[in-house]
Amino acid sequence: MRTNVYLTFDVEIWCGGWNSLDANFPRNFERYIYGSKYRDCCGLPLVLKLLNESKLRATFFVEPFFSARFGLKYLNIIVDMILNAGHDVELHIHPEWVDEASRPLIENCTTKRQHLSEYTYSEQCELIRISLDLLKNAGASNVTAF
Ligand SMILES: [Zn+2]
Repeated sequence: MRTNVYLTFDVEIWCGGWNSLDANFPRNFERYIYGSKYRDCCGLPLVLKLLNESKLRATFFVEPFFSARFGLKYLNIIVDMILNAGHDVELHIHPEWVDEASRPLIENCTTKRQHLSEYTYSEQCELIRISLDLLKNAGASNVTAF
């Protein structure tokens, strides 16, 4: 009997709350992506290193909406790290970031809505399209899973 095992990881940034996002983002990016100020020993770099040493391939579901506030360069760092290590980037979204974007992503997005189901069908389609564009602009052009 053959069994397929899929290793998947969610990659996302959490700033500990929605107040002081701009002040809290840099250290939380370090925390959630690198896991430490020592960049190669923890977090995503360590996971990628261990996977590659074990000759395992994984899929990383990356949340891109945070970059609508803080810029594509951060999302690009994540995408490059994963793709350069030979793994897949797919889509994961946290719609509670939508009202935090520096420019409105959709109409009527000034209130916080945590779940995708809190948006209309057409808003959901638009948010998925926007998030795919963010990933594509950050270098992940072959996204096929959500
Ligand atoms: Zn998540």
